[in-house]
Amino acid sequence: MNAVCVKCSVELRCEKNSHGVEQVHRGGSARFFSGDRWGCPKCGAQVVLGLSRGIDSYEYGYEDRVAPVREHPDSYTAIREDV
Ligand SMILES: [Zn+2]
Repeated sequence: MNAVCVKCSVELRCEKNSHGVEQVHRGGSARFFSGDRWGCPKCGAQVVLGLSRGIDSYEYGYEDRVAPVREHPDSYTAIREDV
C-alpha cells in the first residue's frame, strides 16, 4: 500500500522519479538527495519519499550533478536552514 493522505483518505500516487532535494546548511555547505515525488490526487499535497543517501557539497562533481537539477523548479526543492 502506498502512503496515504490523511486529509482526503486516499492513497498518494507517484508523480515523478528523481525529484531533487537540496538541504542548504547555515554557512553555505549543502547536501543533495534524490527521491520520488508523490502527490494526493484530490488536494494536491506533495511529498518526496525514498530519498537517496545523498552527496555533500564538498564531494567532487557536486555542482555538475546538482546545477542542472536546480534549473527545473518542478523537480527540485531547496531546504534552507537559515530562513
Ligand atoms: Zn489529499
